[in-house]
Amino acid sequence: MKRRAKAISLFAAGILILLIGITLSETASQDHEKEKLKGGATESVSKENIPPKVKFGLPVDSFEVVQHVVESGESFGNILLANGIEYGVIHHIAENFKDIFDVRRLRSGKSYTLFHEVKNDTKVARYMVYEPSPVNYIVFDLQDSVQVYKGEKEVKKVRKEVSGLIRSSLYESLVSKGASPALTMHMADVYAWSIDFFRIQKGDAYKVIYEENFIDDTVSVGIGRILAADFKHGGQDFYSFYYEKGTDYKDYFDEKGKTLRKAFLKAPLNFSRISSRYTPKRFHPVLKRWKAHLGTDYAAPRGTPIMSTANGTVIKAGYTRGNGNYVKVKHNGTYTTQYLHMSKFAKGMKVGKVVKQGEVIGYVGSTGLATGPHVCYRFWKNGKQVDPYAQDLPAAEPIKEEYMADYLKFMSDLKLRLDQMELPQDKKDEVLIASVK
Ligand SMILES: [Zn+2]
Repeated sequence: MKRRAKAISLFAAGILILLIGITLSETASQDHEKEKLKGGATESVSKENIPPKVKFGLPVDSFEVVQHVVESGESFGNILLANGIEYGVIHHIAENFKDIFDVRRLRSGKSYTLFHEVKNDTKVARYMVYEPSPVNYIVFDLQDSVQVYKGEKEVKKVRKEVSGLIRSSLYESLVSKGASPALTMHMADVYAWSIDFFRIQKGDAYKVIYEENFIDDTVSVGIGRILAADFKHGGQDFYSFYYEKGTDYKDYFDEKGKTLRKAFLKAPLNFSRISSRYTPKRFHPVLKRWKAHLGTDYAAPRGTPIMSTANGTVIKAGYTRGNGNYVKVKHNGTYTTQYLHMSKFAKGMKVGKVVKQGEVIGYVGSTGLATGPHVCYRFWKNGKQVDPYAQDLPAAEPIKEEYMADYLKFMSDLKLRLDQMELPQDKKDEVLIASVK
């Protein structure tokens, strides 16, 4: 799952840049998330117990605190020199705290905060706090014994809900609701085995309960996990619930405890369109003659990552005039898949390499006999080329029997909530986003 998640997040970033030209600030990793403590709010608090106002762990009341942005051409040295810090101190920090922060890595556009002590009309900087990212900061304690240390802002998980009807694409629907477009990629990940995201129909609908990570209560630093979802596709409900038991057992299951995962992904890439299906006979656009097409073509922009649709071992990674750059993966004694026309291979791709389902093995191109960038996906069963969409492919393991009762209890609350969520019925496709307290 880890690798797939990584592949998806890389792909997500690519798609975002492609589609809307913005870069997504990297989601705070799950490991660093901390649940904000609630409770105690109803107790009456005596004045002495009111905690002092603190920013970056420093007492705000004792200083004049001003936030700035690093201007282009500004350096750590000239910022501090302009704020009453002697060159010797600056040099000391630059030389002795490189392991914590190399001051040459100060970047224009990032913010920093100065904590000044005001005495007899003179101002001296006592602390400088630099923020290389929305979550992380570095404190330079400029007092007598200089110290430099790292800090991390508290990331608060907020549970959110969004639902909508799809008119053109899931991406467009989510964006129109003000939800993060990154949610599209998370949905594609959860449903990679059960729903063709390139065959979503008008009238399909979704309800999602997910976590979003915030700092300072207002700044979103990314989508967390999808907790539960109901994707209505072709008149059917596709439920998914995230369930975790202990440290290693975590996955998405449906309302009956069946895994959403299958031994094979629906397609070697997400968000593409099928440009040519498996057919015993078709007119070949390059060879200009009728020829069988024993693969499924997915058109996608050059450079789109191509994933292995199942776990397996690479048995060919090479070039032929027809196939261009291609990779062939043997999954077991029964199934083998092949991916053609790559612009290039993923790093380290070679015969014998073990690949995981969802692992990126190459990138879309048009090498070999191809009219445009696409991947031709070929599928063998018992040595014979077949149409993967016509196969009844094996499912992965359902929930462990010993967890079933616990799972059903856990799932029923989430399912109830999903079923209660309203779907906009009219064509306006109105916004339905709410924070759950
Ligand atoms: Zn093809």
